Amino acid sequence: MSTSRVIVVGGGYAGVMAANRLLTGKDVEVALVNPRPTFVDRIRLHQLVGGSAPAVRPYAEVLNERVRLVVDTVESIDAGARTVTLGTGVEQGYDYLIYAVGSRSAHLGVPGASEHTFPLAELEQAERLRTRLAELPMDAPVTVVGGGPTGIEISGELAEAERRVTLVTGRLGAVLSERGRRSTASALRSLGVTLLDGATVAEVEERAVRLGDGTRLSSAVTIWTTGFATPDLAATSGLATDAAGRLLTDETLTSISDPRILAAGDAADPSAQPLRMSCQAAIPLGLQAAETVLSRLADRRPRAIDSGFNAVCLSVGRTRGIFQPTHADDSARSWDVPGRPGAWVKESICRAVAWGLTVEARHPGRMMWTHDRSRADRVVQARADQTEAA
Ligand SMILES: Cc1cc2nc3c(=O)[nH]c(=O)nc-3n(C[C@H](O)[C@H](O)[C@H](O)COP(=O)(O)OP(=O)(O)OC[C@H]3O[C@@H](n4cnc5c(N)ncnc54)[C@H](O)[C@@H]3O)c2cc1C
Repeated sequence: MSTSRVIVVGGGYAGVMAANRLLTGKDVEVALVNPRPTFVDRIRLHQLVGGSAPAVRPYAEVLNERVRLVVDTVESIDAGARTVTLGTGVEQGYDYLIYAVGSRSAHLGVPGASEHTFPLAELEQAERLRTRLAELPMDAPVTVVGGGPTGIEISGELAEAERRVTLVTGRLGAVLSERGRRSTASALRSLGVTLLDGATVAEVEERAVRLGDGTRLSSAVTIWTTGFATPDLAATSGLATDAAGRLLTDETLTSISDPRILAAGDAADPSAQPLRMSCQAAIPLGLQAAETVLSRLADRRPRAIDSGFNAVCLSVGRTRGIFQPTHADDSARSWDVPGRPGAWVKESICRAVAWGLTVEARHPGRMMWTHDRSRADRVVQARADQTEAA
């Protein structure tokens, strides 16, 4: 039997899990391409900014030594020739490719946002923000735009470090239950965060933010956290993507444009029913993409994805947080664990993520995931709805 070459593009949670899991196959050679020589634990980037934890780990801790790490960027994918071209100009061939390029910040076209804000989606952005904050006096006004998980977490982290934070959001913690939203708002306020819930930002200036109602807030640094967008590599390589740039796949995570290309993590959109961009989804999707490749190599029928959610968990500084259990389809349950116990659960989950990556690196094949048995029904229903609407 000849050796099969698999290239994994992107060394985040999904790519690392996929690369390690692929080693359970026979005669599989795995290369992982990533622009940085170290693994970025993105779920701790707000902590890197606040100074409470690092967010970088050596790949040696999370990647099995049999995976070849290529520190470079994939500039284009030629699906016909089954090659990728790297930033250095080198071409590499593959039998299968797993597309796991993750996500980056989204600007949503608010005037001044690109020029005058500090996004918080990537390592270099977090480092730039930390440097900027270090130049400012402690009482300099900081504005956080966006009240999703990242906006809540960075607001809590900075307020606990005694920064003067205003959080502007259309709706705080939309992923939480009403009860969860209330307790998160109260945790933020108790740290001194000024919460403008139900507000919009119309324009960002160098040292100010103008709201939709005309109010002008002085802002020495404006942090932008209104959501994630995905890199355009798939689209520029001629592969079918959704409007957000995620690679469109079937339920086995195989690209609808090419059977040798699969996707996982934030950059995947299975059946136009994408999972919430999260580490929680990226890890099982990485494992499942690898399992699909291994099934194809072994002439077995690949399984449909069935990974689901079990919770949303947010820190509000180091001593407060919320653990919000969800149904497998990601809708919030009615109960939650707020306060110090919530913070403890969140920290335990972050540690468990790191531990899980290490376990799969040392013993490929060990990691399991949460199952969502109702996903198949929802996808069938969504397709039926689309057909009816058409
Ligand atoms: C501050 C913050 C806190 C978060 N907290 C949580 C949380 O508590 N829970 C949760 O579930 N999620 C959380 N998330 C979201 C989570 O981090 C992402 O959903 C997750 O990282 C997605 O994993 P991924 O493997 O798809 O992509 P990523 O982790 O983004 O990894 C993608 C990798 O691909 C690389 N890459 C990109 N383009 C190329 C290319 N052309 N060639 C080669 N490599 C490329 C990138 O540099 C990166 O290393 C948080 C995010 C942030 C920013």
